[in-house]
Parts: sequence; structure tokens; C-alpha cells
Amino acid sequence: MKIPILHLEDGIHTLEEQVSSESLHFSGESFYPFPVDVTATLNKFGANLRCRVQLSTRQHFRCDRCLSEFDQPFQGTFEVLFHIGKDTWETDEDDVVHLSRETIEVDLSDRIREYLLVSVPMKRLCSEACRGICPGCGCDLNHEECQCGEKPPDPRWEKLLQLKK
Ligand SMILES: [Zn+2]
Ligand SMILES: [Zn+2]
Repeated sequence: MKIPILHLEDGIHTLEEQVSSESLHFSGESFYPFPVDVTATLNKFGANLRCRVQLSTRQHFRCDRCLSEFDQPFQGTFEVLFHIGKDTWETDEDDVVHLSRETIEVDLSDRIREYLLVSVPMKRLCSEACRGICPGCGCDLNHEECQCGEKPPDPRWEKLLQLKK
């Protein structure tokens, strides 16, 4: 998604665009195979431009416990501050992006991709209550009752049994 800079007038502007997963160039297996709805709200005042980006899409994961694939909705928002023109306004703030006066437009694709990537949870479960896979027979305990009688080892009980001995 590209934000026009050069001829943007002061005030608030809203841009909406649906960007494809391919255009975001995820490398390897993508957690975001679906189009991403992007709403950018631009607030320009003189040399300052505040850009609020709202994203809406679906994530695609494989469950850590039962290994089934599932989709879940994802929504997120981030902001980018731009400052147009190099003169005077020097600052150490990392989160301000400095643009030259000649900048025609800014592509937000890299920022959108980075935001989506850091939004991938460490733990990916099809549901909090997912019962996972039986370590004995490999059946999906969400859908079938295990027939092998194998109980997942519980480390707490093992410790107690050892103490008893
Ligand atoms: Zn699961
Ligand atoms: Zn089993």
C-alpha cells in the first residue's frame, strides 16, 4: 500500500485498500495467506504526518497440540509518524520517519509485513481446550476417544510416585 506524500493537503484523509498476501512478500510458509484489508488514516499538519494503519485479515496456523490446521481472525493497529523536510527539526526519536521534500509516496508494505510477523503468537492452539494427540496411538483426542489406554505422563504424579518409593 502506497501513501501519497507530495501533494497531500493538510487535514485528515482515509485510504482503504485490500492488499494481497503475495504483495507483502512473506518468505517461507506464510501465516497470512489471505488478503489484508488496510485502512490508513492520515493526519497531516504542516511537515508532520501521522499515519494510523488498521489491518484486518485471517491468520492460518497449525495447532501446536493436535497439528490440525485452522484459521482465526486477526485485527491490529499501528502508527507511523513522518516528518517531511530535513531542515531544523532534528530529533532522536526512532519512531519518526524523515522524508525529503521531494518524496512522492511511501510504501507501507514492509511495515505491514513486519507488524503481521511480530503479531504471530508463540503458542498457536486451535482452541484453549484442545486436547491434542494421544502419545500412545496418535489419535486426535478432540474427535475420538483413545482406545490404547495410554495416559499422557504427568510429571507432577511421577515425582510423587518416586517419593513414595
Ligand atoms: Zn488443536
Ligand atoms: Zn491412544
